[in-house]
Amino acid sequence: MIKIKTREEIELMRESALIVSKTLGMLAKEVKPGVSTLYLDKLAEDFIREQGAIPGFLGLYDFPNTLCMSPNAQVVHGIPNEKPLEDGDIISIDCGALKNGFYGDHAYTFEVGNVAEETKKLLQITKESLYAGIREFKTGNRVGDVGYAIQNYCEKHGYGIVRELVGHGLGSVMHEDPEMPNYGRRGRGKKFIEGMVVAIEPMVNLGTHQINQLNDGWTILTKDGKPSAHFEHDVAIVNGKPELLSTFKYIYDALGIESNEEDEFRQ
Ligand code: MG
Ligand code: MG
Repeated sequence: MIKIKTREEIELMRESALIVSKTLGMLAKEVKPGVSTLYLDKLAEDFIREQGAIPGFLGLYDFPNTLCMSPNAQVVHGIPNEKPLEDGDIISIDCGALKNGFYGDHAYTFEVGNVAEETKKLLQITKESLYAGIREFKTGNRVGDVGYAIQNYCEKHGYGIVRELVGHGLGSVMHEDPEMPNYGRRGRGKKFIEGMVVAIEPMVNLGTHQINQLNDGWTILTKDGKPSAHFEHDVAIVNGKPELLSTFKYIYDALGIESNEEDEFRQ
């Protein structure tokens, strides 16, 4: 069942989303060669608690940490560890926070030092596909319109869209209805209505879309060992249009990146 949010609830959800945004912004300055993902996880946990929130993933389905840290060929759900990041790595950091009874949930894939051009392009296209998907999240459209937009955008570049993991409705529960696949057919699936809030999160592989799971029961990685990218935003339908609740602004501020990519999703 899809749970529609009031304007007041959407503002509370924005607060939770922005705590995650600020956490990712804080981490942006810390992601560098030699730093372990477990160290970053600890920083994030302390930071989230300082904002009066609770880490949203810690203990959820028994996940052991605050962040899902998925380097290189890992797609999502990687578990932080002591292994230092290396020059040329990419690392998807997915973070959740719970405050006022509502979850924020978003993710960014960072470059560690000097990253190969073809990998940089994968990150760029995956992020652009996220916005292509968000553009379709509006009154009257359907779940398949978002999935189609993301899939079409990425497959033009020969990338593989992960099928087994999907975006989702978001609210007082981390994973609400509807499921939001990153592939689909126009005009198919549940219809979008005012007050829906979802997390849209393309997971896109440089090579095959096929994946494996490590026997830790969590880590998803590409079957061919090639890199995978993951970007995620929280979005509400307000006045019939997509309204971003999360932002990459804090990351861009930390990294000195100029961007107006989110402007069209602010009312
Ligand atoms: Mg997430
Ligand atoms: Mg999510």
